[in-house]
Amino acid sequence: MALLEIDNLVASIGETDVLRGLSLRVDASEVHAIMGPNGAGKSTLAKIIAGHPDYTVKSGDIRLDGESLLEKSPDERAAQGIFLGFQDPVEIPGVNNLYFLRTALNAQRRRRGEAEVDAPSFLRLAKEEAARVGLDAGLIKRSLNDGFSGGERKRNEMLQLSVLQPKLAILDEIDSGLDIDALASVAENAGRLRAAGMSFLLVTHYNRLLDAFPPDIVHVLVGGRIVHSGGATLAKELEASGYQAWSQAEPGLGAGSHHALHA
Ligand code: ADP
Ligand code: MG
Repeated sequence: MALLEIDNLVASIGETDVLRGLSLRVDASEVHAIMGPNGAGKSTLAKIIAGHPDYTVKSGDIRLDGESLLEKSPDERAAQGIFLGFQDPVEIPGVNNLYFLRTALNAQRRRRGEAEVDAPSFLRLAKEEAARVGLDAGLIKRSLNDGFSGGERKRNEMLQLSVLQPKLAILDEIDSGLDIDALASVAENAGRLRAAGMSFLLVTHYNRLLDAFPPDIVHVLVGGRIVHSGGATLAKELEASGYQAWSQAEPGLGAGSHHALHA
């Protein structure tokens, strides 16, 4: 049994079927990269696994450790070990960053029947992890993402990941807007967490993250399906040749077709 199993998932938002028969298996400690053209359904996949309420799953299944997630709330999924790092982390003025993270951690621990972490212990943990991800200690005490640069937001996502310790980290374009140092820091921390057993689903357009944090498997997502999978070298081929070949391989689903999704 794999950690994450997705079978033939069909899912929609509004009137549009965005995922159209998507299957995927991720084992413990594995890194999978999802690449594909804009509008292919990559962020949709990430949000549906996490339980985003705007999407409707019409058929298929998503299981974590063999148990279906479909009837579970986003909170329950998080407590079971799913973490979603957003493509564009939102600013929440008035919500203290540390308080937010401690509340999230303790809510998950309560659901798992574990003891809560008290404020002093949490502060120590958060400071240690913030130093590891290269997030300025002043920022952990500010409002969540309030006035943070793009790179600081992504480092803050990494802080959340290190503190919450999910089984599966889904990172949607964590590399976008990162400078070279921030990218290296993200890759190093992801590598450390992976070595400790965490699995990753990385949505990315670029090899610069994958060079520093090599995936086991690269998937090409086009038109709401995984149309091809390969090893780490597939990412290089895609960067060189684009997705055209795969769009043509799936008539009616690709960017070149009049059925193309309206991205
Ligand atoms: P990707 O992350 O691969 O660029 P998305 O998963 O964000 O793609 O989007 C997939 C498709 O779903 C696109 O065609 C997009 O227009 C559509 N879509 C996303 N969000 C909505 C929404 N709120 N309402 C209608 N269509 C949406
Ligand atoms: Mg996206």
